[in-house]
Amino acid sequence: MDKAKRKAIIAGNWKMNKTPSEAKALLGEIIPLVADADCEVIACVPYVDLAAAIDATAGTNVKIGAENCHWAESGAFTGEISTGMLKEVGVEYVVLGHSERRQYFGETDETVNKRTKAALAAGLKPIVCVGELLWERECNITEEVIARQIKLDLWDVSKEELKNVVIAYEPVWAIGTGKTATADQAEEVCAFIRAQLAKLYDQDAADAVTIQYGGSMNDQNADELVSKTNVDGGLIGGASLVAEKFAAIVKAASK
Ligand code: PEP
Repeated sequence: MDKAKRKAIIAGNWKMNKTPSEAKALLGEIIPLVADADCEVIACVPYVDLAAAIDATAGTNVKIGAENCHWAESGAFTGEISTGMLKEVGVEYVVLGHSERRQYFGETDETVNKRTKAALAAGLKPIVCVGELLWERECNITEEVIARQIKLDLWDVSKEELKNVVIAYEPVWAIGTGKTATADQAEEVCAFIRAQLAKLYDQDAADAVTIQYGGSMNDQNADELVSKTNVDGGLIGGASLVAEKFAAIVKAASK
């Protein structure tokens, strides 16, 4: 499939930054700068910012995502948030399996899979993050790691459901480190992910999936990264907190 026919998505991952009033102010700066974007624009924000963010972006082209969700509909899961709660406030996307969740909060491929299936069942669009550690890259097992994550994280996800899945390739060594994968490295792994999807589903289904790159993407390197055939936009951490930088990345993906 022609890359131009796939939907490029630039999504900000705000992590644990911005209070509701700060979120409103930042979105107020971002909205006019991305109004003519020719790609999808998303801000994934902390739970307590969701209502303010959805209110601030009403009637604009900026969509709002959450940074995680639980798989159960309700119950004794102190501190967790259900898909129903996210849906009711108007959330459309949800980041799942981010490496910080895997590294610091015990997230596994099994729980990422449970969350992914629950999100899809609720009508949310999961942005499923996969990526290798530096050590794994150095041991030359990047493809094994990614193949395993793709297979497990998408276990029991149907071809129909895959249409609502976004994959974010985020090499862990490049997240928040200022170290970006080269455009060729990003392309190589994004193409590998697409090939894995083709094996698990079929080529048409794989060709339609948006595969983002994430890892220190910024206004300086976005052009080259998003120009690659299999890189359909980006998941942006640090640079998504600065309106001008985020808007410049959106512009790069709109070309
Ligand atoms: C991220 O949090 O998903 C990310 C890619 O962060 P950064 O852009 O800061 O590396």
